[in-house]
Amino acid sequence: TSLNEIDIHASLKKYFGFSQFKGLQEGVVENILRGDNTFVIMPTGGGKSLCYQLPALMQEGTAIVVSPLIALMKNQVDAIRGVSAEMGIAHVLNSSLNKTEVKQVKQDIVDGITKLLYVAPESLTKEENVEFLRSVKVSFVAVDEAHCISEWGHDFRPEYRNLKSIVARLGDDIPIIGLTATATPKVQEDIIKNLGIGDATVFKASFNRPNLFYEVRTKTENVEADIIRFVKQNEGKSGIIYCLSRKKVEELAQVLQVNGISAVPYHAGFDAKTRSKYQDMFLMEDVDVVVATIAFGMGIDKPDVRYVIHHDIPKSIESYYQETGRAGRDGGEGHCLAFYSYKDIEKLEKFMSGKPVAEQEIGNALLQEVVAYAETSMSRRKFMLHYFGEEFDDVKGEGADMDDNTRNPKEKVEAKDDAVK
Ligand code: ADP
Ligand code: MG
Repeated sequence: TSLNEIDIHASLKKYFGFSQFKGLQEGVVENILRGDNTFVIMPTGGGKSLCYQLPALMQEGTAIVVSPLIALMKNQVDAIRGVSAEMGIAHVLNSSLNKTEVKQVKQDIVDGITKLLYVAPESLTKEENVEFLRSVKVSFVAVDEAHCISEWGHDFRPEYRNLKSIVARLGDDIPIIGLTATATPKVQEDIIKNLGIGDATVFKASFNRPNLFYEVRTKTENVEADIIRFVKQNEGKSGIIYCLSRKKVEELAQVLQVNGISAVPYHAGFDAKTRSKYQDMFLMEDVDVVVATIAFGMGIDKPDVRYVIHHDIPKSIESYYQETGRAGRDGGEGHCLAFYSYKDIEKLEKFMSGKPVAEQEIGNALLQEVVAYAETSMSRRKFMLHYFGEEFDDVKGEGADMDDNTRNPKEKVEAKDDAVK
């Protein structure tokens, strides 16, 4: 396979300009080139796209990439076109195209120019598209953001459930590649089951972020004063403060401003122009702090965010990991501070009470894990990684002393009780 290895490295350099693979990429690429089903679990920013883009560019035929967001697809296609002189090398097929454009896309596929075809799941289900794709050579189907297939994921999309049967119609033994940044074992099982890839080789990267410090503090009526103190101690550094409601976002941003802190609010209630203005102010460091709902952060790549504060506890460990993950992208310091009060958990429970029972059950189960995380006296990193199905050595592991519980161990209440008995 040494020839193969040379090929892979040469292609990596040729198409992407990189001289090295990141993490598990090389093994994934080899596996896909062998024609095997593959399951890739890597945290956000881990480099999942390249895992299927490179083999697609190296192979005969067109790889179909299923992706949930049109905006995401467009970015990816632009990036791929940037690496190649051939315009048609990557295409998007979706409802935003007119008839002439669709015709061009199909022609490029038939001509063997198109190596990557990005489709939304609802476009792939369309009979005319299935019929067309049956008639061309498909190298493999990559299902990006594969957690959308699971009700236990944070972004369930029922159309993802049809993918397996559609792929089966496109031809015999078309390899399927599932990719996700969701590390929970439940979601993974769902993905494997629903995509029918029980035989897939699984590539799972570690979700440990050793440079992040995790801390939970009890939320009292003085929470705003606590936050102001923290921000002032970190003056000049960039930070994100997450709140549950738009109202709280605006209130807190104002309180910070009144206290001489440069902060902007951000939530989906502002119009697009205002949102991008505030976002840019944060990115350009005109302000230190952005106070935001979870609407802020998707795809934002500011490497030197030094802290992420949760004024309100999030609805799952998964969300907490994603949101805190925006700190310390450059490998430098990143303080993750969550304020916790059981009252907030009850609030979140109440939000769910109008939803279908099945959804409520899942929501409550996720919430109970958040409670356990907030109330644990063990290493928070160990707790979180265990939740993601990962064993962490809280003595020797990377970042082992990077949380409040490990730095300042609480009294072991259970141990004392045992002693009394
Ligand atoms: P994910 O989908 O896992 O969140 P992406 O595929 O968007 O991650 O990649 C994240 C970043 O990593 C991108 O900017 C990409 O260019 C970069 N990247 C991917 N592979 C490599 C590599 N082998 N060397 C250097 N940078 C890489
Ligand atoms: Mg991705």
